[in-house]
Amino acid sequence: MGNLAGKTALVTGASRGMGRATAERLAADGALVAVHYGSSAEAAAEVVAGIEKDGGRAFAVGAELGTPGDVHELFLALEAGLKERTGETELNILVNNAGVMGGVKAEDTTPEEFDRIFAVNAKAPFFVIQRALADMPDGGRIVNISSGLTRFANPDEIAYAMSKGAVEQLALHYAKLLGPRGITVNSVAPGITRNGNPLFDIPEAVAAMSALSAFNRVGEPQDVADVIAFLVSDDARWVTGSFVDASGGTLLG
Ligand code: NDP
Repeated sequence: MGNLAGKTALVTGASRGMGRATAERLAADGALVAVHYGSSAEAAAEVVAGIEKDGGRAFAVGAELGTPGDVHELFLALEAGLKERTGETELNILVNNAGVMGGVKAEDTTPEEFDRIFAVNAKAPFFVIQRALADMPDGGRIVNISSGLTRFANPDEIAYAMSKGAVEQLALHYAKLLGPRGITVNSVAPGITRNGNPLFDIPEAVAAMSALSAFNRVGEPQDVADVIAFLVSDDARWVTGSFVDASGGTLLG
C-alpha cells in the first residue's frame, strides 16, 4: 500500500472498470478521491459509498467529456467538492482514464465517430491537464491511460489507436515542461482488461483474449490500478515521461 494521506486525486471515468478500481485503490492508500463520471451518476455514487464504507474519502463529480464546456463543468464540481472537504482546491493527482472505444472498421468509420473518439480520448485529457495545473502544487502526479493498441495492430480500432497515440504525446512533452515543478507525467498502456463489455461473459471469447497475454488470462481492473498507484506514489518520483506496458505481456508478441 502506498501512502497518499493528505493527497487529493481526480480519476476520470471512475464509475466503472479500471477507473473505478483506481479510485478505490487510491482511496485505500489514503487519498481523498474525486470519482468522475459521464452519465452513470448512480454507479459513481456506489463507488463513493463503497470507498466510504471501507473508511476512505471520496465524492462524485459528473461531466460529459467531449462536449462544449466539459472541462469547465468538471472543475466547477471538482473544486467545489475539494473546497468543501479540505478548505482549498489543491489537486495532487490526476488520472486521465475516461475513454471510448470505436469498434468500427476503418472503412466504416464516419468523420463524426472519428471526431467523438478524439474529443473524448485525446482532446479532453489535454484540456483537463491544462486546467488541472492551476490547482496542482509541485510534486504532483499525472497518469494518462493509453492502450497496448498503440503497439499492437487491430484494424477495427484504427481511429481509437490514433487517439491513444496522441495521448501518449502528453507524457513526453508535459513531463519535460513540468519536471522543474517535480510533477511527473506518465502513460499506462493496458492490454485487454475486463470491463462491462458482454464479451467477457462468453467463455470462448475470454479464452481467445486470454491467449494474447503471456499470462494466459485477461487483465483485471485491479491489475492496472496497482500500476497507476505506484506511478502516483512517492516511490515513482524518478519516473516521468514513460510508457508503462501494463498489458500482461501482450506486447511481447
Ligand atoms: P469502461 O468502458 O469500463 O468505463 C469507461 C469510463 O469512462 C466510465 O466511467 C465512463 O463513465 C467514462 N466515460 C466514457 N466516456 C465518457 C465521456 N464522454 N465523458 C465522461 N466520462 C466518460 O472503461 P475501461 O476500464 O474499459 O477503460 C478505461 C480506460 O482504459 C479507457 O481510456 C480505455 O480506452 C482504456 N483501455 C481499456 C482497455 C480494455 O480492455 N478495457 C484496453 C486498453 C485501454 P460513464 O459510464 O458515466 O459515462
